[in-house]
Amino acid sequence: MSKSFQPTLLYQDGRFLSGKQLDVDDAGRITVTARDTTPVDLKGKALLPGFVNAHSHSFQRLIRGRAESRVVSGKDFWSWRNTMYQAAAHLSPEEVYDVARMCFLEMARAGITTVGEFHYLHNMSDGVPYDDANLMARRVIAAAQSVGLRIVLLRSAYLRSGYQLPLDPGQRRFFEKVDAFLSNIASLRASYPENSADVRFGVAPHSIRAVPLDDLHEIVSWARSNSLPIHMHVAEQIAENVECQREYGCTPVELLAREELLGKDFVAVHAIHLSSEEIAAFAKTQAIVCSCPTTERNLGDGIVQVDALMKLRVRHALGSDSQAQIDSLEDARQLDYHLRLAQQQRAVLDQIDDRPIAERLFDCATIHGAQALAVESGSLRPGEYGDMVTIDLEDISVAGHTPDSLLPLIVFGANRTAIRDVVVNGKTILQNGRHPLEEEIVSRYQQVYRKVWGGESSEGNLR
Ligand SMILES: [Zn+2]
Repeated sequence: MSKSFQPTLLYQDGRFLSGKQLDVDDAGRITVTARDTTPVDLKGKALLPGFVNAHSHSFQRLIRGRAESRVVSGKDFWSWRNTMYQAAAHLSPEEVYDVARMCFLEMARAGITTVGEFHYLHNMSDGVPYDDANLMARRVIAAAQSVGLRIVLLRSAYLRSGYQLPLDPGQRRFFEKVDAFLSNIASLRASYPENSADVRFGVAPHSIRAVPLDDLHEIVSWARSNSLPIHMHVAEQIAENVECQREYGCTPVELLAREELLGKDFVAVHAIHLSSEEIAAFAKTQAIVCSCPTTERNLGDGIVQVDALMKLRVRHALGSDSQAQIDSLEDARQLDYHLRLAQQQRAVLDQIDDRPIAERLFDCATIHGAQALAVESGSLRPGEYGDMVTIDLEDISVAGHTPDSLLPLIVFGANRTAIRDVVVNGKTILQNGRHPLEEEIVSRYQQVYRKVWGGESSEGNLR
């Protein structure tokens, strides 16, 4: 049965409209020709496109709070990785499922309707593949299905530790040979319905560091012949650029441009340490940049030059990456806040191409994310999937607004408490702030957390 969502305000094309409804057909797509619809009352709420989280490593939810110490995790990204590897070392497929469900539940609570899961946890703890080399990927997909999120599983190729480096034992669950990678992603993809509404795929060569150039060519041409998006970590750390100079005599983005690997279907995750020529290369090839500002500030990665990128109309998606926080609106506003601190000015991204800043940042969390994952979503247009989020117009963080101030209020000030309902493919997965599986998901996650990190949980100590 088709549904008719009836909010107090509907966000479309940069404006809030009152007295409008949004219809979604049986297949979960937005339509303007529905008949006999079932009304869904959303009085007192604004209805907006759901957020797209284009870059996630769900298992890293486990290290939130564990890595905020130099004693434990050292002083930089490279030493932080050891804490992350420790979390990844012994998780069973069922535990990976439990952690991913917790992470995806939190995403649903934050208004996220699609997640791009950059997945590289493939092997058993000793580095040997499971009988089904895609077992871990399937458990992560099942976790998203259990919560109700759409997932784009970006299966990652992690082929080596780095140029002239021995294999790092902390990464043994990640490694595959390129042939195995290609046959594994092909069989994974073939085992799900083609163009499914809720499970999609992409190809993720981990980084220039982890994938030698010949293999990268092979992986990218396979992805292109199968029309799949290509995601890669690029220029997150200066040391990465230096290593690439040593191996290839140029930076990662120069290499990608020179080898004609950039393109409309290429998503450069982070893309922080860039020259103006490299920014121009993204513009020329229409590649997308995916920033993860809450993670990038947590890891001390640096500040992405969003102003320079946006002036050249480079599309910009957002990701929660390490799950230090899961909040697409916080990621959106930090794109500008980081620039404000660096440049000692306000609203740096405002009026680029005459567009208001709030609209531009909101597009990063929605439309550009959907484009990065090649999913028909993000703007509530007819034909797209019915992926939506509601904001409680009386929530303490947004109350007191006019139609023209509401979007900036939401982008710069909304708390997660304002997010009340989340709809994916026309199906409500969060209703009035509650997910039906929340207690079970949290309780199973707590058991995994105690097993991995030991000791009593704070709940246990209170009893
Ligand atoms: Zn990442």
